[in-house]
Amino acid sequence: MSKLSFPCTACGQCCKKVNLSEQTDYLNRGDGTCRHFDDNSLLCTIYEYRPLICRVEDYYEKHLSHLYEWDGFVKMNLEVCEQLKDGK
Ligand code: SF4
Repeated sequence: MSKLSFPCTACGQCCKKVNLSEQTDYLNRGDGTCRHFDDNSLLCTIYEYRPLICRVEDYYEKHLSHLYEWDGFVKMNLEVCEQLKDGK
């Protein structure tokens, strides 16, 4: 794994809760899920062209690398992943 590789399991939970963030709410198809999410495959239908906010590594580099170390940032995000999986 390269230094900048987020351990995403492609569970789809963040794509199903875009309404929870002001930065992603514009993607909401009406039920909290992103309009580009495929409910069957649990994958992004515009993956190669997804917005910067969905590109964990790129978003970190551009906006957050001066605030957090990568490892700490990953840890924080994984905690959010768990909360989303728990339905919190
Ligand atoms: S654009 Fe793709 S990666 Fe971003 S929230 Fe929607 S389905 Fe998920």
